[in-house]
Amino acid sequence: MFIDTHCHLNMIVKENFDRLLTDDELKAVQTDIEQAKAAGVTTIINVGTSLVESLNCIELARRYKEVFATVGIHPCDATITWRDDFKTIVQKVKTAASLRVVGVGEVGLDFYHKPFDKQRQKDCFKAHIELALEHDLALSIHVREAGEELLYVLEEFSKQIKRAVIHCFSQNQDFANVVLGWGFYLGIDAPITYPKNELLRNVVTNTPLTSLVLETDSPFLPPQELRGKKNHPAYLPKFVQVIADLKGVSVEEVAAVTTSNAKKLFRLDG
Ligand SMILES: [Zn+2]
Repeated sequence: MFIDTHCHLNMIVKENFDRLLTDDELKAVQTDIEQAKAAGVTTIINVGTSLVESLNCIELARRYKEVFATVGIHPCDATITWRDDFKTIVQKVKTAASLRVVGVGEVGLDFYHKPFDKQRQKDCFKAHIELALEHDLALSIHVREAGEELLYVLEEFSKQIKRAVIHCFSQNQDFANVVLGWGFYLGIDAPITYPKNELLRNVVTNTPLTSLVLETDSPFLPPQELRGKKNHPAYLPKFVQVIADLKGVSVEEVAAVTTSNAKKLFRLDG
């Protein structure tokens, strides 16, 4: 069995971010969950990107036993009024267990999508780190074109953070070494199948299996054979053979170890 540790079910069933799911859309998610289970993906961590999407994540986790939620404001959604939305997120986190909220995320820094306000992103990220620490929740971290500054922010908290993942890992070996030293996990997705992605394959070769978790980031980042199409949690097993080959182990071993890692990361066994 596999656990998809980073998915956006909300965005598989609707086109635009930041509106609540309709009843039909909430029901439509069932198909994805069934297909995922048929492919061996038994659990899905559905990740929030804004207040509205976090509320969608909570609703889906309430409806489907296979789904858990994370809540948080993505750096690209750190608008001028992010603190207002953050207040509601704090309220939700206070009752995290009953809402099946297992983490804070995705949060971090993104200096790729313009325009952005570096200081505002850092403030928003720090507030979320403190929230995760206060409530002992896992952190799902996004980073793009901001590796050094992200490490700088995290360093201050690195001794306190016990459970964190760098989602959709695409940084270099030096970055990997730093976060692995802090005990973080690396989230690996289908880009490991992309022909030009020798960097990621090398990082995975050099990283113990006990520090990896699997994710699809659906509907984004489909495997090479399906590029240009919508990704789904059911496609997760399509890139696992690449990891197995790099590590010289069986797919079953990758599945067993990464599932155990994901359970520890998000404390899924209670
Ligand atoms: Zn994501």
